[in-house]
Amino acid sequence: MSFQNKTIVITGGASGIGLLCGRCYAREGANVLLIDIDREKLKAAVEDIAASGGIAAGVRGDVRCYPDVKRACDAAVSRFGSIDILLNCAGGASTRVFQCDMEYHEYPLEYIDWGIDVNLKGPMYFSREAMKQMVRQRSGVIVLLGSIAGEEGNARSVDYSAAKSALTHGFLKSLAQCGAPYNIRVCAVSPGPVLTRPEMAQMQTLMGRAAEAQEIADFILFITSDKASFVTGANFMIDGGRSCMSV
Ligand code: NAD
Repeated sequence: MSFQNKTIVITGGASGIGLLCGRCYAREGANVLLIDIDREKLKAAVEDIAASGGIAAGVRGDVRCYPDVKRACDAAVSRFGSIDILLNCAGGASTRVFQCDMEYHEYPLEYIDWGIDVNLKGPMYFSREAMKQMVRQRSGVIVLLGSIAGEEGNARSVDYSAAKSALTHGFLKSLAQCGAPYNIRVCAVSPGPVLTRPEMAQMQTLMGRAAEAQEIADFILFITSDKASFVTGANFMIDGGRSCMSV
């Protein structure tokens, strides 16, 4: 799985799964461009990769803001000359981010907007802009980060579940159809509980544990490598068997 001289653009790259993937790609010789809304964490992430001998740059930006999206994609091309892989990792549950414990009929409308905008519109914006460069190159791989919540629903995270479901079904398949004539592959990875957050250890899986972030990163590196060259339009559940547990 060689990523030598490839350019990887990672949204939400300042922490969690995005940052870990950034470290792994950099170790494999790739150029990594991280985009994140959190300026301090982004700076630390870029420094961390560089300190290990990797090549990384950061663009502070909000995936909901198209000018930020364009600026990040332009920066990847002007700095590194291509966009070979786009990982759409930025995301999260509005109820967790805003510490909201209300039932859906009482949710503030701005939480619903945040959940849809960050988890669905952001990846749609980024994929559109990155695809322009990938079409020019006649190659590329786009990964959408879904969630088990997009498959099984979640009464406490309705907007998140709806956005992830739309992302990993309708958008994934549509984008795979758009990309195929240009040799652009599009895949989704839908994790179950991942230990980027300790509370995820409470969530049940068939394997009796939550995933280490490395287990998600390893799979992402595989599907974005040439070893997965015939894979497109597929949503992979990396959930320790949770989606086939009997209730
Ligand atoms: P994380 O919270 O560690 O990282 C998300 C990053 O996105 C943060 O650095 C944050 O600053 C950034 N971000 C948030 N809003 C942004 C915006 N508007 N613009 C730019 N950056 C923004 O999350 P994680 O646990 O690494 O999860 C990564 C992805 O995997 C997410 O899409 C998440 O929904 C999905 N996922 C995670 C789990 C889990 O258990 N951790 C399970 C299923 C799916």
